[in-house]
Amino acid sequence: MVEAARIEELRSSVAGPVLTPVDDRYDAARRCYNALVDRRPAVIVRCSGADDIASAFDFARANQLEVAVRGGGHNPAGHCVLDGGLVIDLSSLRRVEVDGDGRVARASGGATWLDFDSATQDHGLVAPGGIVGSTGVCGLTLGGGIGHLTAQHGLTCDNLVGAELVTPGATVVRASADENEELLWGLRGAGGNFGVATRLDFRLFPLSGVVGGKLSFRGAGVRDVLRIFRDLVAGSPQSLSCQAVITLDERQQPAVLVAPCYTGTAGDPEELRTLRAAPGLVDDSVRDHSFLDQQRVFDSPYGQNRHYWKGHFVRELPDELIDELLTRITSLGRPPGDILVESLHGAPKDVDESAAPLRFRHAAFNISAMATWADPAFDHEHIAWARETAEAIEPWSLGGGYANYMQADEPLERVRAAFGDDAFERLRALKRTYDPTNVLRRNQNIPPGDR
Ligand SMILES: Cc1cc2nc3c(=O)[nH]c(=O)nc-3n(C[C@H](O)[C@H](O)[C@H](O)COP(=O)(O)OP(=O)(O)OC[C@H]3O[C@@H](n4cnc5c(N)ncnc54)[C@H](O)[C@@H]3O)c2cc1C
Repeated sequence: MVEAARIEELRSSVAGPVLTPVDDRYDAARRCYNALVDRRPAVIVRCSGADDIASAFDFARANQLEVAVRGGGHNPAGHCVLDGGLVIDLSSLRRVEVDGDGRVARASGGATWLDFDSATQDHGLVAPGGIVGSTGVCGLTLGGGIGHLTAQHGLTCDNLVGAELVTPGATVVRASADENEELLWGLRGAGGNFGVATRLDFRLFPLSGVVGGKLSFRGAGVRDVLRIFRDLVAGSPQSLSCQAVITLDERQQPAVLVAPCYTGTAGDPEELRTLRAAPGLVDDSVRDHSFLDQQRVFDSPYGQNRHYWKGHFVRELPDELIDELLTRITSLGRPPGDILVESLHGAPKDVDESAAPLRFRHAAFNISAMATWADPAFDHEHIAWARETAEAIEPWSLGGGYANYMQADEPLERVRAAFGDDAFERLRALKRTYDPTNVLRRNQNIPPGDR
């Protein structure tokens, strides 16, 4: 609880609204994507720019409040909200500027992928981002970024070319190839550990439309569908990104959904013909459409369901693991959520690995058990399902996990393993420079010291 007089002081020092539990907008402002997370901050500062962010840091320091940073509010760990502390809320900072000639976009700290894609597509340009429009551009990029254009253009963070941050010490720092290059390296995957990004700059690529959508498969052949998907992406051209989702049909039998995104020039690409010929195709929405339509293929309700995600980057997807995944999807006896299989073929492998701290670009797939449910009475069972499913995947794991999908209970060792020892120590050195007292610890944390 912060004294009312102090809150009034804060109000007079910032341009944006300051929300406390007595405000009408407070409940909506503390809500995040994952309904499992229900926390009550002492104060939410809806920042209108870098000055407000600096004032919020100063206020938190003066009043010994812990800090959380809110972009799109999608992180499944609920890092954007905390009990009793201060939230730096960036949801008013949604501007995206596009330099069409220079093929660069500058996204403000709270822009979503819908904001970003709408602005860049107005210029016939695109950057590889997330697959749900309401996800935050900065939150996703700072953890890596896997989506519909990964095979074509790499991870989202591979296309991050510049940034402007406000550090917890309330100073403004810029990073680019010419300035604080080490910080730019660290931002490509190590989360919001070093400051609050007021702006991230992205390299853009021309794109007019794609062939994409969903192919849904049912029945006894879904095992073969997954094998076909696996073999196809292994030999796929970079013009095809592809993801698969293992789920249950209404009879509680395993079903598979494959989401291709093709940007090549072939009228009827062989890869799509191969997918369509797989057994048990019951629904085919794959067609020529705009990239904005492709970004609506996986719309997802905000704040309605409870989520607990856990997974691994794997070196391969052998038949044995496919069988394991198909067993796991039925093991709860009711729909547990989904298992997402993201292919990392193509462009992520072409990037010079010294350009970013992330180790996972070497993986064949990112496989995640995404438990999703509505009734709090089932919390224990669904969380256990996700953990046990991740355990079943672990024998094929490369070690570490995907920071963007991690829950808050992941041990430091798994965060360290996501980068490897050498990169982790470099990140620690950056942390000591920009956030030596670990103010920004509500994230997949890089502690400045030994713990
Ligand atoms: C429905 C859904 C779809 C998703 N789709 C994808 C996908 O396609 N690809 C993918 O790779 N991931 C995806 N994710 C995961 C997503 O990338 C991460 O959860 C990411 O952290 C979300 O960012 P956010 O800003 O929306 O979340 P928030 O919860 O607001 O923030 C998450 C973290 O990022 C930090 N952060 C956010 N903005 C800033 C900023 N401006 N400066 C500094 N730190 C900041 C916060 O401190 C926090 O630690 C998805 C998640 C959901 C729930």
